[in-house]
Amino acid sequence: MMTNLKYNNNSLFIENVSLSDLAQQFGTPLYVYSQNALTNAFNNYAQAFGDNTLICYAVKANGNLSILRHFAHLGAGFDIVSGGELARVIQATGSANRVIFSGVGKSIAEIEYALKQGIRCFNVESLPELHRINDVSGRLKLKAPISLRINPDVDAKTHPYISTGLKNNKFGIAYKDAMDAYKLAQSLPNLDVVGIDCHIGSQLTDVAPLVEACKRLIVLIDKLTEAGIHLKHIDLGGGVGIRYLDESLPELSLYANQVKNIIGNRNLSLILEPGRSLVGNAGVLLTRIEHIKQGEEKNFIITDAAMNDLMRPTLYQAYHHIVPVVERNIEPIVADIVGPICESGDFLGKERNLKVEENDLLAVCSAAAYAMSMASNYNARCRGAEVMVNHDSYTLIRRRETMQDLWQCELLD
Ligand SMILES: *Cc1c(COP(=O)(O)O)cnc(C)c1O
Repeated sequence: MMTNLKYNNNSLFIENVSLSDLAQQFGTPLYVYSQNALTNAFNNYAQAFGDNTLICYAVKANGNLSILRHFAHLGAGFDIVSGGELARVIQATGSANRVIFSGVGKSIAEIEYALKQGIRCFNVESLPELHRINDVSGRLKLKAPISLRINPDVDAKTHPYISTGLKNNKFGIAYKDAMDAYKLAQSLPNLDVVGIDCHIGSQLTDVAPLVEACKRLIVLIDKLTEAGIHLKHIDLGGGVGIRYLDESLPELSLYANQVKNIIGNRNLSLILEPGRSLVGNAGVLLTRIEHIKQGEEKNFIITDAAMNDLMRPTLYQAYHHIVPVVERNIEPIVADIVGPICESGDFLGKERNLKVEENDLLAVCSAAAYAMSMASNYNARCRGAEVMVNHDSYTLIRRRETMQDLWQCELLD
């Protein structure tokens, strides 16, 4: 789970900084990240895959500028799914020529913006999109570098967590249609066909489906080579899981070795798009207990963080480990941990066993991926602040929203 989280005299620290102190200084709900954990996660990828691999951090997992800048300094590229994410990368000093643009519905404005910035590649998900990018790049008198997202249709029966690599979802181009799609792409004058990509799902706990997808793409690459279409890179997407509780995990070195064996001596560079596995276990969401309520059948721990701060439990029934920031020697209670939002689905954890009292702090673990990036202002709640910890020091990397922030875009005539 989270390796940079430790109790010190019954009080929880991230790296060398006390979470109680941070809550005191910045209030709650508060997202706290360990810079060291980010660095380690990135270096694990870099070491496992070595040269000739571009690790494109999936910005949607957590797009805070300080996190993006940190990854840029470590040598990362970026996987984006909107013009807004590209603007974030550029604002954070990332370079556009290391950016991959994924997503099924890129607007004309977004394509134009990305072309002018000079991104590395568009990951194209349909034939209409291919035509659209060709049109826009022609108008700008540019050539658009493109890859086709192919749906490898990896068997889901043995791997129930795979959800985006199957036939019946909105992503990618069907495997059987791939050759024709490439021939079309090759024939369009304003496109430069450079790659092939896939992204088969998220929170995968086994390397087998990732490796299987790679094999299937290589079969296509060889057919394309025979047909005179020479690709420069293969992009295997993201999807490597993290440990929220006790999941088994894909081993990166095993993944890397198998992929390298499959690629063999083909003249291809490798691109990866990890999101969750680079940031997920680098941070916690700190929240304070407002009340402990004894219901008729259940107890509720009501916290100041809610589904708007961390949507994953509500959205995916996802499990996040939740621990007290100060350990007490009292009788535990079993309770659902819920927020103040007016929805029955507003919970952070169910039937947890905790030794806590009112006003105590809780740390919701593994809350750096798909947490703040999915946060909303539902119920007119101000989004929380974010802090980056580095050894003994810490920096506020996003201030808490104010009431004025809630209506700053609204016009009252
Ligand atoms: C979401 C996404 C990723 C990142 O997925 P993780 O599971 O967080 O690694 C990468 N590529 C694409 C196309 C995505 O949609």
